[in-house]
Amino acid sequence: MRFVGLIKQVYDPAEIKPQNQGPELKLEGVPKILNPFDEFVIEECLQWKEKLGGEVVIITMGDENAQEVLRTALAMGVDQVYHIMDIAFKGCDTLVTAEALSKAIEKIGGADLIIAGKLALGGDTAHVGPQVAAFLDIPVLTYVSKVRELSEGDKKIVVERLLEGGKEVVSSGLPALITVVKDINKPRYPSLMGLRKAAKVPIPVLSKADLALDDSIIAKEAMVKVSPPPPRAGGEILQGSTEEVVNQLLERLFSQKIF
Ligand SMILES: Cc1cc2nc3c(=O)[nH]c(=O)nc-3n(C[C@H](O)[C@H](O)[C@H](O)COP(=O)(O)OP(=O)(O)OC[C@H]3O[C@@H](n4cnc5c(N)ncnc54)[C@H](O)[C@@H]3O)c2cc1C
Repeated sequence: MRFVGLIKQVYDPAEIKPQNQGPELKLEGVPKILNPFDEFVIEECLQWKEKLGGEVVIITMGDENAQEVLRTALAMGVDQVYHIMDIAFKGCDTLVTAEALSKAIEKIGGADLIIAGKLALGGDTAHVGPQVAAFLDIPVLTYVSKVRELSEGDKKIVVERLLEGGKEVVSSGLPALITVVKDINKPRYPSLMGLRKAAKVPIPVLSKADLALDDSIIAKEAMVKVSPPPPRAGGEILQGSTEEVVNQLLERLFSQKIF
């Protein structure tokens, strides 16, 4: 079976410090990491390859630094990686990203199962997985917390979808695309030996021309403004004896209909 995982490099949210806050987020110098949901993407691809055999291919689209996340994937044990990079993709929205990723999947010979993360930190749109499925005209199953069955012969997948307050079991034909949540597995750590080997592997780059994308592929969305949420108002400290404070607290909870 051919498993294709989509992974993205994102700004480390823990490193976006208060001094960067202002009317616009300043991200220069902020280190980048593998999108946390995408560790689960790599692990799920590897676990199913270990069960059923086949090949794991990982694709990312991003600037030259994005090769780091591909090297992490190689160190975790994937078979092949591809890097989509072209100056023409600067300023691209989720639709352009998804079209480029879907063309890359077609170019490398398709997939039986494509796995993407639930969302990528920063952009937070959760668009890309479903949009890739739409470009490829294949079923999409989102918020997958467990793959119950996967059969190459029957061309069938059965998954559990994590919903608010419950789970849903859904089956679909293959090829399909799933987006995964953190409950799905426990990602392995890349081995030291794997990291050393991965550092030397040449990574194939796919450009806009390699993907046969023409000039009609341009962002249809415009980013108008990015800003942090307003600072939270300070809390109120109730004064008095324990009994008085408890009474004041209950009064407020009742008056605000919290109880
Ligand atoms: C007008 C506009 C201009 C933009 N300009 C730029 C720019 O110049 N440079 C830039 O880096 N970003 C830019 N972006 C942001 C970029 O389009 C998005 O980050 C990207 O399309 C993914 O969206 P997301 O982060 O919401 O991912 P989501 O849709 O939330 O991600 C879900 C999953 O999709 C997969 N995925 C998402 N993105 C990728 C990817 N790139 N490669 C492989 N898999 C992926 C991963 O599995 C991920 O877990 C711009 C966005 C807009 C709207």
